[in-house]
Amino acid sequence: MSMQLRSLVNTKCKWYNTSPSNMSEEINLKNENNIIPKAETGTNPIIFQNYDVVIIGAGPAGLACARVCAEAGATVAVFERRKQIGEKVCAGGITMHGILDRFKDIVQRTFPAQTIVTRHQRAEIHAKEAIIATLNRVELGERMALEACRAGANIFVGAQVQEINAGSVTVCVKNKLGEEKERQVHYTCLVGADGSNSRVRRFLGLPVELKGFGINCQLPITREKMEWHLNPSLFASGYAWIFPHRETTSIGVYGDSEMISARELCKNFQTWTQAEGFDLEGQQLRAENINFDYRGVEFKKDSRIYLVGDAAGLASGLTGEGIYSAVISGEYVGNRIINPSWENEIFTRLEARHARHLKAVRYARTYPKRLSLLSEGTCLLLRLGLLPINKAEMGG
Ligand SMILES: Cc1cc2nc3c(=O)[nH]c(=O)nc-3n(C[C@H](O)[C@H](O)[C@H](O)COP(=O)(O)OP(=O)(O)OC[C@H]3O[C@@H](n4cnc5c(N)ncnc54)[C@H](O)[C@@H]3O)c2cc1C
Repeated sequence: MSMQLRSLVNTKCKWYNTSPSNMSEEINLKNENNIIPKAETGTNPIIFQNYDVVIIGAGPAGLACARVCAEAGATVAVFERRKQIGEKVCAGGITMHGILDRFKDIVQRTFPAQTIVTRHQRAEIHAKEAIIATLNRVELGERMALEACRAGANIFVGAQVQEINAGSVTVCVKNKLGEEKERQVHYTCLVGADGSNSRVRRFLGLPVELKGFGINCQLPITREKMEWHLNPSLFASGYAWIFPHRETTSIGVYGDSEMISARELCKNFQTWTQAEGFDLEGQQLRAENINFDYRGVEFKKDSRIYLVGDAAGLASGLTGEGIYSAVISGEYVGNRIINPSWENEIFTRLEARHARHLKAVRYARTYPKRLSLLSEGTCLLLRLGLLPINKAEMGG
């Protein structure tokens, strides 16, 4: 660990919850039997003034980074504006060749077969083993938060970072009465793990010029097959999906924002759901941007500042897949914070895949009239076994 970061090692694992209803709860993670930690009342949460590493955002990228830094002995604070970790608009699809082995016990469903639907074809692709699975994002978040806390990281939920300065951030927390209080927290390293609309990225002056848009609806129905629907007249270069979970099914759509507006994508998604016989009455459609404008993870602006996951633009511009990139980049940056000359092949491969996906996105943007041909051609190659289905994965 660098000298700069060598400081007080946490001796006690704490998950402070700063949301109004839990203002006085300190969750002691030393009880190994608690998968989701139980609250112990009576201790006021304390946000200290200084941390080696301040991480904004408790998504998979921030939590992976927090675990690595805390394991190495750095003092780590993660600030999460939401009250619940893992609450994220997402279909929860995770490819088998990436990081799934780590989360096997929280898998919802696995799928050795995939159904690809285009305007003129319907292909069933069978693999010997499952190639993709679904996860519940809250379960994933809780698992990763627990691992980070056990390593010694401090996670504060209901704590929104409102202002970023060189060397410090201003965090807004609410007390028991719901009154907002601001705290200034100093950092040696700052990690922007705050998703596609990253405040840290804005502080660095980095624009987001390449982005997609995703809509998800978690329906209270069960379905058997995992389906991908390519239909350029509805989704341009994007696609709609049906991802079954254990008791629910995620249906949704992803589109490149340069090719189709959010409004049109939403309208066309509804046309598609009607044609597929889904009843959206009373269901909530949730949407978010997906940043794929990757410009590196490490920046210097008076202090050491890093971006990970969606904040760094590491989601795939082609498919919108981003959980794998978030975890891998979080771990990579965590290791670089501890040892600035640390390198690893997995992250280099991820960058290469991201660049390949971007090339495909740019091709689609340049030749939009070829999209129908491309989708039918892709489906045919998959059917004939000439194109492996995992070619579009970010992991592996
Ligand atoms: C509709 C849709 C479907 C998707 N489906 C899939 C899929 O099936 N598979 C897949 O791999 N990827 C999918 N993705 C992408 C995936 O969700 C993201 O790539 C992934 O969550 C990125 O992780 P992250 O940790 O970088 O950011 P996030 O998961 O977005 O986490 C960022 C966190 O930062 C917090 N935050 C933001 N600002 C602040 C602040 N100022 N102060 C404190 N906290 C803050 C947020 O509350 C959030 O919890 C999907 C995305 C969308 C929109």
